[in-house]
Amino acid sequence: MLIVMKADATESEIKAVARVITEMGLRPHVLPGANRTAIGITGNQGPLDPTRFENMPGVAEAIRVTKPYKLITLDLRPEKTVVRVGDATIGGEELAIIAGPCAVESREQAFAVAEVVRRSGARFFRGGAFKPRTSPYAFQGLGEEALKIMAEVREAYGLRIVTEALDEHGVDLVERYGDVIQIGARNMQNFSLLKRVGRSHLPVLLKRGMAATLDEWLLAAEYIMAEGNYNVILCERGIRTFTQHSRNTLDLAAVPAVRRISHLPVIVDPSHGTGKNYMVTPLARAAVAVGADGLMVEVHHQPELALSDGSQALTPAQYEQLVSETRAIHELLMPVSA
Ligand code: PEP
Ligand code: MN
Repeated sequence: MLIVMKADATESEIKAVARVITEMGLRPHVLPGANRTAIGITGNQGPLDPTRFENMPGVAEAIRVTKPYKLITLDLRPEKTVVRVGDATIGGEELAIIAGPCAVESREQAFAVAEVVRRSGARFFRGGAFKPRTSPYAFQGLGEEALKIMAEVREAYGLRIVTEALDEHGVDLVERYGDVIQIGARNMQNFSLLKRVGRSHLPVLLKRGMAATLDEWLLAAEYIMAEGNYNVILCERGIRTFTQHSRNTLDLAAVPAVRRISHLPVIVDPSHGTGKNYMVTPLARAAVAVGADGLMVEVHHQPELALSDGSQALTPAQYEQLVSETRAIHELLMPVSA
């Protein structure tokens, strides 16, 4: 059930509806929008009776939800969600650029790359502290030490830190040092982890699983929102196909597909999406052209020495070129996407 409040509904009318929902043993999700507030309801097993709400003051309509998702949908919030991280945004007018190394390898490396990221005008620094590696013998990340280094990067450059948590303990640590919690492709359907980040005060960047359908991805976002965290950013990062010319197949059609259903911002990671340095910039351009709200890209000051994902890392010069080209495309398209 979705309750749409009238445009002139008062705060106390909204609260009264939320209170009734709570008293029914259910959970209200109050999402204010540009023109009206809507209240999503979760926790019910079967359909609810709309007449319980229709006559309450301030209620415009009570709509039965027939789709599998209740909170990620444009029915609840017709305009795009803008995720605010300090003074930076994802989903707003600015193209959000999240850049940095695959993994934080040392203080020197992180600062060398952060210097480049800051100079480009990007607002977000990425860096792995806990790396989900295919082989147990591959570099696993520096853990908490990496988080401390990134907290220093934030202090020094004013960049917001986006970093992955692999498990619930990792979430505790990212909450202490970071600004946005990344849930990686391999954990997209780790439901206990999704519930945990759903209770976090930090925004969550949810990567698409490598074999996830659009519905599965959106329902993973729904898990997070159902716990009360409405600051979710979707990230397309490529899916597994029979292709051998790239690491993954970057599914750019997912961007307009998400846009048609959801108010959540959607960004694209052309680094993991292709796995190849020379493909990253062309696909980044395409991602912005199809309407992505931002990009996540891997950059290394010495890609040949990177401890992980060196083959897809951009050099500082390539990264700067990517930023200027994608910004130009974004500016050109602004009137279309606005
Ligand atoms: C990453 O961004 O560091 C990463 C491991 O990505 P993914 O989960 O998309 O593979
Ligand atoms: Mn990587």
